[in-house]
Amino acid sequence: MASKLVDEKTGRYLPVLYPEEKPFWDAAKERRLVLQRCKSCGKSWYPIGPACPHCFATDFEWSQMSGRGKIHNYVIYHKAWTPWFEKRVPYAVVQVELDEGPRLTTNLLDCPVSEVKIGTPVEVAYEDITDEITLVQFRRAAG
Ligand SMILES: [Zn+2]
Repeated sequence: MASKLVDEKTGRYLPVLYPEEKPFWDAAKERRLVLQRCKSCGKSWYPIGPACPHCFATDFEWSQMSGRGKIHNYVIYHKAWTPWFEKRVPYAVVQVELDEGPRLTTNLLDCPVSEVKIGTPVEVAYEDITDEITLVQFRRAAG
């Protein structure tokens, strides 16, 4: 799977699509969040890797997550490290802890940085950024 570092049209940085992560990216295009789940201890994990970080077993399956969680931590960026970010600062990068346990570093869509709070319930959202790439993002949970 080929991938470029920067989108030529928008100047936005793109994730590198590693072959072992293909099920994650394929599912994101279908508006599903899947992570690896250990067949030995039953726990899921992220970042994607070859072995369970809980018990070190290497036998896993791709399992659909609920898409629900809460903000575990966040940081507000005030500096635009690339031109694409110049119109976007300040912006938040949040760490979401899924109900299933794994934590994803992501963005919180449609939320002013002044309203980003630890513990806020969130739900998964998807953002198509190229024909090939859909990002897994989050929004504050409805209700
Ligand atoms: Zn395990």
